[in-house]
Amino acid sequence: MDTQNASLIDSHCHLDFLVFDDDRSAIMQACREANIQSIIVPGVCRKDWQKILSLCYKNDMLYPALGLHPCFIDEHHAKDLHELSRLLSTNTAKNAAENSEIQNLAGIGEIGLDFFIKNTDRKIQIYYFSEQLKIATQYQLPVLIHARKSHDEVIKHLKENTSLKGIIHAYSGSYEQAKEYLNRGFKLGFGGAFTYPKATKLRSLVARLPIDAWVLETDAPDMSPMAHHSEKNSPQYLLEIAREFASLYDNKAEFEQIMKQLYQNTRDILPSLHNRQL
Ligand SMILES: [Zn+2]
Repeated sequence: MDTQNASLIDSHCHLDFLVFDDDRSAIMQACREANIQSIIVPGVCRKDWQKILSLCYKNDMLYPALGLHPCFIDEHHAKDLHELSRLLSTNTAKNAAENSEIQNLAGIGEIGLDFFIKNTDRKIQIYYFSEQLKIATQYQLPVLIHARKSHDEVIKHLKENTSLKGIIHAYSGSYEQAKEYLNRGFKLGFGGAFTYPKATKLRSLVARLPIDAWVLETDAPDMSPMAHHSEKNSPQYLLEIAREFASLYDNKAEFEQIMKQLYQNTRDILPSLHNRQL
């Protein structure tokens, strides 16, 4: 099976993290050779935003997203939300032409609700999440959502912000919750968690949902696929995740055809991917 012609997009990868400082260039080169054309790099804390913007500005395969992640609420301040709005207000077509560092912003992320972590203040999580949803609505940007044990609450917020679209990254909910997201025009992230045979419920969703529900992601350096479970995850492994998706998809379509659809799904939900010539 020749898989080298299929273009792939990693819709969620923390390539800005320190753990990639030594091998980031080599990884990007390996990705190019594997036909991984684009990588979305979401932010988790304000202190990381500038590094992400600089990295993405210098490397045209990288697309930034800016956000405040629910697992780091202790590091967030209300003024970070103002800074997010301020940065977005400078992200105009005119500034882009004048080499503003915010180029091809993929969306607002990584934002969301994580009720799996212990001793978390749900109220504060909900505050940052809902404020960032408002900002995304104001600037008409897609959202990259992290949701663990919180899908019903996330869906409730999406019902209050009906114009929003985006990706539920590392999807882990039920079939019914998936349908709720899909009805609102969201896509679901398929990544490392689906590669473990024990994840039977999650894996069964692939065949039960339409193929246009899905986008591929690695969430590197976390969520390593099974074949690399003891290693740092890398966007290079996206092709393995893609093969796993194709093996679960209940259809006789060729691998390349399936990949073409997933590639299109990602471009459909993240319009900034159209800004660069691919
Ligand atoms: Zn993430």
